[in-house]
Amino acid sequence: MERYEEQLLEQWQADGPQRKGYRQLAEWFNTLMLRREMDRAGLSTLGDEAESKYERLRSDEAVAEEVASELANAGVPIERLRSDFVSYGVIRTHLKECLSADVDLSSGDWERDAIEISTDHATTKIEAAVRSLRNKGRLSAGGDVSVSVTAELECENCHARVPVDRAIRREYVCRCDD
Ligand SMILES: [Zn+2]
Repeated sequence: MERYEEQLLEQWQADGPQRKGYRQLAEWFNTLMLRREMDRAGLSTLGDEAESKYERLRSDEAVAEEVASELANAGVPIERLRSDFVSYGVIRTHLKECLSADVDLSSGDWERDAIEISTDHATTKIEAAVRSLRNKGRLSAGGDVSVSVTAELECENCHARVPVDRAIRREYVCRCDD
């Protein structure tokens, strides 16, 4: 992972919408590994080819197996690759433990962390529930379904609602007391 540490760190510490969370960093890193193996096997990685393959590897089991055998047939060591894929927990631990010397984890950062970790957990749980409902035929969609979880904050005085990350970024929920 060492070669990519700088890029991981850069994206992790970026400001505003450029900032990637652990989950997005894990996706970025895993897609990078997949692209490298696809390149080695001589497959096209133009456009979003690797991204879309990675997404499908992470979707329904049937879809994932289809993509996996397609890649295996093309010479991509897919089983090894899949066991090398990292979770957001690995990225989090890695950034904290291995890079702590370079990272400013001063007071205040645990709050963003707590929000991100619980949002990731919620997303994972909902994804599993949605997958199960789809398998049981109780939820239908024309394509792959992705889940996004956003916690919102609301001022009980003026009822302004804002996503928690935006509120933290701009440092206010509302200004109804101005
Ligand atoms: Zn208000």
